[in-house]
Amino acid sequence: MAKHWSIPAVEALRADGVRIEDLDTSATPGFRGDKSSGLPLLAQRTTVLSDLQEKLYANGRSGDKCSVLLVLQGMDTAGKGGIVRHVIGSVDPQGVDHAAFGVPTPEEQRHHYLWRIRKALPRGGQLGVFDRSHYEDVLVVRVHDLVPRAEWEPRYDEINAFERELTDEGTTVVKVAMFVSLDEQKSRLRERLERPDKYWKFNPSDIDERAFWPAYQEAYQAMLERTNTPYAPWYVIPADRKWFSRLAITELLIEALETLDLDWPKATFDIEAEKRRLEKA
Ligand code: ADP
Repeated sequence: MAKHWSIPAVEALRADGVRIEDLDTSATPGFRGDKSSGLPLLAQRTTVLSDLQEKLYANGRSGDKCSVLLVLQGMDTAGKGGIVRHVIGSVDPQGVDHAAFGVPTPEEQRHHYLWRIRKALPRGGQLGVFDRSHYEDVLVVRVHDLVPRAEWEPRYDEINAFERELTDEGTTVVKVAMFVSLDEQKSRLRERLERPDKYWKFNPSDIDERAFWPAYQEAYQAMLERTNTPYAPWYVIPADRKWFSRLAITELLIEALETLDLDWPKATFDIEAEKRRLEKA
């Protein structure tokens, strides 16, 4: 590990003091190598992630309340889907609670914005993944004035209190904001229009949203500044290079799981007696 990263991902990617407008989205902060060393490393590290996640799951099966929640935020084409497929896809699906949050349904609209979020929280032992999240309620909602300012403004503090509650209950929250450049987004959208296997990912409104890029940058900046807490910090992922964003998020998850310092659950039966019984069976 040490030879691949000059600074550990958890330090190199911290959001503290980041100005999004100055961010180099093609950078690979803290990583010494390039794609040719990053890809084989990613394969090794997803195996490590998978082993750690199995331990989390095993503890959950034994009644432990610990869980990990990965919150993925990013503009269209930033690569959230690739993280779910390539990083989360490397672990045992039994231990994954995945939830994607789109435009609220009529039923969701009748409730507080955290209602659908609370329903989707990971249970003990699960690795939860939010593909978009409660942060949409201070991003798209703010950019498009979907509710008045007086309504979204208090949400930053409310979200902080909500995440405090979550972490107090044993959930480690890993929040990542993925950023691509406007040019990179254009080329990814172009690819979606050129390749039949990608048409399904294209949404004509993604092109309209490009006009709101500065407003989104401002909303993302406010989100990073106002919800970057010690108990649920933000990580900023330059995402023009897919191999890097996948590797970086894998490292963040490994770190979160290692910090839990889990052991395999102890046997709740007499091992020697069970061995003897098995031989006679
Ligand atoms: P994706 O674009 O991530 O593949 P969808 O096609 O389901 O997934 O689109 C999600 C859309 O839902 C995004 O445009 C997002 O801004 C919007 N959305 C998510 N949460 C909210 C919300 N709370 N209020 C309004 N729009 C939301």
